Amino acid sequence: MADLNKLHPYVKQLSEKLIDQCKKQGLKVIITQALRTNEEQNELYAQGRTKPGNIVTNAKGGQSMHNYGLAIDFAPVVNGNIPWNDIALFKLVLTAMAVTGQVLKIIRICSGQED
Ligand SMILES: [Zn+2]
Repeated sequence: MADLNKLHPYVKQLSEKLIDQCKKQGLKVIITQALRTNEEQNELYAQGRTKPGNIVTNAKGGQSMHNYGLAIDFAPVVNGNIPWNDIALFKLVLTAMAVTGQVLKIIRICSGQED
């Protein structure tokens, strides 16, 4: 679980509300990424370009909301693992996120590819 205390206080609050909303629906989620340093962002940017692996981001250090503590990445957890292929479960978590966003009147959901 990423350290929520390094997020902007409002985003931290949003993250906690998301976790609560999921809990209400019997879903367990983990925040996989929160604040990311510019150095960590540059490492990610290099992946698939100057380093092996698939391209996972189009943002260099300083260009991601993560670099300012304004973004979180999250996923459902079942028996301690993230079931990456369980699309239906991910959709349920997205719905919980949308409900949380409606309550707070702010939300931007992205696939992660752009950040
Ligand atoms: Zn992200």
